[in-house]
Amino acid sequence: MSLSKYSKCRLCARNCGVDRRRNIGYCGSPAEMRIARAALHLWEEPPISGTNGSGTIFFSGCSLSCVFCQNAEISRGRAGKSVSINRLSEIMLELQRDGAHNINFVTPTHYIPSVAEAIRIAKGEGLLIPTVYNTGSYDNPDALKMLEGLIDIYLPDLKYYSHKTASKFSLAEDYPEVARRAIAEMYRQVGPAILDEGGMMKRGIIARILLLPGHIAEAKLSLKYLYDTYGDNIYISLMNQYTPMEGMQAPLNRTVTHDEYSQLLDYAEKLGLKNGFTQEFGTASESFIPPFDNTGI
Ligand code: SF4
Repeated sequence: MSLSKYSKCRLCARNCGVDRRRNIGYCGSPAEMRIARAALHLWEEPPISGTNGSGTIFFSGCSLSCVFCQNAEISRGRAGKSVSINRLSEIMLELQRDGAHNINFVTPTHYIPSVAEAIRIAKGEGLLIPTVYNTGSYDNPDALKMLEGLIDIYLPDLKYYSHKTASKFSLAEDYPEVARRAIAEMYRQVGPAILDEGGMMKRGIIARILLLPGHIAEAKLSLKYLYDTYGDNIYISLMNQYTPMEGMQAPLNRTVTHDEYSQLLDYAEKLGLKNGFTQEFGTASESFIPPFDNTGI
């Protein structure tokens, strides 16, 4: 594949329209992929991590710029190495050989054409495990269509319900509609969730709601939206792992309280949510953040 698919980039909802072979857009990413780590990772939901770990590939750059980003080193920085499409396909096969339950692309939105091509090559060379698209959900449905038949599992965030919060924390006022449209396209592609007899996910969606301190009402609205729309056809992951990074202002300068998280879990129970994941307390820690040291690249 030539890099011509990056000539007028509209891969995410920023719709920059720039030629990424020569310039960079809002995501700060050139057309050539940059990857900061490829390794087994045990911190995803149980049907993704399993016992061996998820074969996680962390891309550099991001189109969302969340003020509380926990991967700021790669999302805003220049961490990582340039990687060709062929090398990405080799990395997938190496992770499969290492025992990964799946191949998990983290924040791949701005590299969709290259990821799609690399998956095609890897499948031709013997990739058999499921592929996972792990995203902040600021995705354009037309770009996601390039992944049809290539991605088995989608792991989208639903970060905000209100335009005001989306604008304040991610400079993306239209995030609520964008993310809902993106999740609808993901569901169109993969349909209801399917787990194997061992409890590992084969196909479907796990939508994530990261509870932010002081934002319980908004998290409930996001949960209600997802449950009203998809019921138990998708899994919903209710996360309390928010970790304040240095320099955060109130209320983002603290972790989530037990009371806040309990309110969200009680609400999920009241709605009747069956296919949900929760987190233990004490998970708010920077230990979730692996070293972005080019391991496995
Ligand atoms: S991926 Fe999004 S932010 Fe990056 S250049 Fe393309 S449209 Fe702009």
